[in-house]
Amino acid sequence: MKTDAIHGPLQSTLDISTNPPEALQNGNTPQTDLHTHTTASDGSLTPKELIRLGKKIGLSSLAVTDHDTVSGLPEAMEEGKKLGLSVIPGVEISTFHNGCDIHLLGLFIRPDTPELSSALSYMAEKRKERNRAMIQKLHDAGFPICQEDFPQESGMVTRTHIGALLAERGRASTPMEAVREYMVPGGIGYVPKARFSPEECAKLIRKAGGAVIIAHINQIAKDPSKALSTARELLVENIADGLETLYCQYDDFWRKETRRLAEETGSLSSGGSDFHGQFKPGLSLGKGYGDLFVPQTFADSIEHFVKERRN
Ligand SMILES: [Zn+2]
Ligand SMILES: [Zn+2]
Repeated sequence: MKTDAIHGPLQSTLDISTNPPEALQNGNTPQTDLHTHTTASDGSLTPKELIRLGKKIGLSSLAVTDHDTVSGLPEAMEEGKKLGLSVIPGVEISTFHNGCDIHLLGLFIRPDTPELSSALSYMAEKRKERNRAMIQKLHDAGFPICQEDFPQESGMVTRTHIGALLAERGRASTPMEAVREYMVPGGIGYVPKARFSPEECAKLIRKAGGAVIIAHINQIAKDPSKALSTARELLVENIADGLETLYCQYDDFWRKETRRLAEETGSLSSGGSDFHGQFKPGLSLGKGYGDLFVPQTFADSIEHFVKERRN
């Protein structure tokens, strides 16, 4: 079975068509992006390609935060060194608390921390089991998909990759549509995911020397007040160090509320595009859907914070 089945036509060489060079003009303020994905998880650009794109569009720093893995970091950091772009080692880990899906970002982590590595390999095993179960359910329901489409050696497989194959085979118009239709609770191919609690996850990130940032608060719960109160609880109880106050999908409401929450709880502010390359069409590195601008000062404050805590 050919190994390109997973990425199919979505696997790209460097595509910067959605990122014109003039994208990052906001006076002379240096710009960062503290939330991005590569082919190490479910992005379509390799770590090297992502860093080259970050350099090309003029970012002053860039965090690589793949889902449940740090395997893309060595390549990204080496390329950053070569090009003179500051690459921030990161990770995004899914947690579950009070019926809510909470994604925690670890920023400025030491990727080779043994406790982090073994927790991530445990999650990788669980992810494989879950994928096998989801593919089986879809196969049994008559979808044109089978275990052999995803050979062992083909790297991390996520719902996005399964969705990409379903889209390629005509069962959805985009990978994300396939995920939303078939692989969320209530969907015909859905299998629940094994997740850490936020406390367990925060402990791992701190052990690795990183800052714990709550990602995309708007996705924690359907009810905005529940999402905000859950985030507040994690900040007040010192489980998280900060939150994304800038994010590709935030409107004025979310920008205002998350900034207020950061101020009231004295927490760190972070922000990013959640760039996935071609798996999230229309979403650009650095500028999100067009109106995102994360100042370098966010990265500087987080770096200062982790250095102080390590001392
Ligand atoms: Zn996320
Ligand atoms: Zn993400």
